[in-house]
Amino acid sequence: MGSKHIIRVWQEVDIDAIEPHLLVAGSTAGDCGNCKEINIELSQKRCPKCGAEFKYIGTRISASAKEAKRIKLKRPDLTIIDLNDFKEIQARKKAHGLF
Ligand SMILES: [Zn+2]
Repeated sequence: MGSKHIIRVWQEVDIDAIEPHLLVAGSTAGDCGNCKEINIELSQKRCPKCGAEFKYIGTRISASAKEAKRIKLKRPDLTIIDLNDFKEIQARKKAHGLF
């Protein structure tokens, strides 16, 4: 029998491949990483504005296992990423003029 728990797995990713498919979750609704549309229902498969398909989800509530569980319950189909990691890399890229 498996014992299901949430742990963070560090993985090498292509940041440019994540942003167009990222749903940024707040407590009740989310934002589109692609077009920045706000107030998107967390159950949406695609952005109602730009049509981007969501494959990743990050949460701005907290980087806790409890919050990850909440997100996982709502969207078991999406890969949860750490939003702080994501933002840090974005900021670094901006600083190097790679945007
Ligand atoms: Zn969008």
